[in-house]
Amino acid sequence: MDTIIVGGGAAGLAAALTLGRARRSVLVFDTGEPCNRFAKNAHNVPGADGLSPREINAADRACLRAYDNVLIRDVRVESVRIADGVFVVETHGGSSVAPTLILATGVTDMVPLRPGFRECWGSTLLHCPFCHGFEFADAATAVIVAPDEARSLVARLSAWTHQLTVCTDGQPLDADDEALFAAVGVAVEHSGIRSIEHRDGIMTAVVFDDGQRLPASVAYGRFPMVVTGPLPEECDVERTPLGTIAVDHFGATSVHGLFAAGDCASTGIRSITESRSSGQRAAYGVFHTLLEQARQ
Ligand SMILES: Cc1cc2nc3c(=O)[nH]c(=O)nc-3n(C[C@H](O)[C@H](O)[C@H](O)COP(=O)(O)OP(=O)(O)OC[C@H]3O[C@@H](n4cnc5c(N)ncnc54)[C@H](O)[C@@H]3O)c2cc1C
Repeated sequence: MDTIIVGGGAAGLAAALTLGRARRSVLVFDTGEPCNRFAKNAHNVPGADGLSPREINAADRACLRAYDNVLIRDVRVESVRIADGVFVVETHGGSSVAPTLILATGVTDMVPLRPGFRECWGSTLLHCPFCHGFEFADAATAVIVAPDEARSLVARLSAWTHQLTVCTDGQPLDADDEALFAAVGVAVEHSGIRSIEHRDGIMTAVVFDDGQRLPASVAYGRFPMVVTGPLPEECDVERTPLGTIAVDHFGATSVHGLFAAGDCASTGIRSITESRSSGQRAAYGVFHTLLEQARQ
């Protein structure tokens, strides 16, 4: 194998396509749990707007069938180690070895365990207005966000709706922000949030600790996220201040031969198109590393 890719989401499959077409031998491992699996439809994806995440992933996989040099195994990578300059990848089925490796495992969103949050995640509790805001234009919208992020998120959301209520979930809001929101007609709720009221994931209200209800048909939530799985730790890669894997423009990490792409290496936009793009750039990085290794 020339390269092993851990993760067959948007980033991993884009990398596999580029390397497959470059006639490198590629082995992709995937557990089929992309972070967007909770959403019924994906949007803002050129050529696939409105398809389900599953349909988009299936189409990405279908392209790869044309390349005999690209194999996909639907199993979890349990561990990765570096031995004698090569990456040794362990699954329950055995070991695989390659001189280069791309981590494209995505991130896990730490959606609160409070009632209604997980049920609504991806359908009416959203991470991104560019992906799903159009479907909720002018809707009564709750903004569940840390106070220091409230001002910028509210400014952005005003492109989609002016019916906004900032929910600080019990945290104090800066006095300047409070005054600004009052001036532009954005309501603020300071109480802790007890739950989200919904019917089959369709939000009807945010419920506060004191029992008050804020009727809302959608909420945007900013929750912590962590890189999925233990592999970056095992490879001892450098991280960004956000905790994602630090990479250069071509996806190279601090470990020679190890690349990362997609959400797990993102410091900004999280989207399918962005992940495909970083997957492709990591593939170029791998390609050139393989050429260098062949010259030595
Ligand atoms: C709820 C939600 C809705 C979204 N909606 C949109 C949208 O409408 N439009 C848009 O452009 N973007 C959307 N996004 C963002 C977009 O889905 C992500 O940016 C994109 O999926 C990231 O691609 P990725 O390949 O980095 O990771 P993922 O798509 O998360 O894929 C990672 C893959 O790696 C696999 N994996 C992880 N660990 C292992 C392991 N150890 N062994 C084997 N496989 C492993 C996982 O099972 C998964 O299949 C949404 C995100 C969320 C959370």
